Amino acid sequence: MDERGPDVEEIISMIRAATRRVTVAKRTLAEVLVSAPDHLTADEITHEVQKRRSDVSPSTVYRILEEFEDLNIVVHAHLDQHAAVYHLAGPVHGHLTCEQCGTTFEIPASHFDLLGKNLHRHFGFALNRHHVAITGTCAQCQSLARTSR
Ligand SMILES: [Zn+2]
Ligand SMILES: [Zn+2]
Ligand SMILES: [Zn+2]
Repeated sequence: MDERGPDVEEIISMIRAATRRVTVAKRTLAEVLVSAPDHLTADEITHEVQKRRSDVSPSTVYRILEEFEDLNIVVHAHLDQHAAVYHLAGPVHGHLTCEQCGTTFEIPASHFDLLGKNLHRHFGFALNRHHVAITGTCAQCQSLARTSR
């Protein structure tokens, strides 16, 4: 599954469709998000934007990220105790983050279907499968711990 969400021109038309202004800063941010690997913090996004356009301020980047979230162009998630990370809105997925090595694995959201159903049945609770990562220890760190014992 390699569906990563919209490309730059699709992002631009989403901004226009919402009758918002398309600025150079917004276009640059769209380019960074499309070409970037997944899961960048706002600081990392700012850094990438400023490599292309040194005149775009961090506060402008933060404002545009908020606007992009409003327009459902990007989503954010919390993978560990550090800053939120952003990526383009695409198919919903879940995150598993290893507490030992910090690696995050993306998993199909369908793994949460049963849990989501049970939570809703028992507590009337609607699970958000993407927003916060599930933490634990990855297979590799478990086998390292086993061999060093
Ligand atoms: Zn993700
Ligand atoms: Zn959040
Ligand atoms: Zn690990």
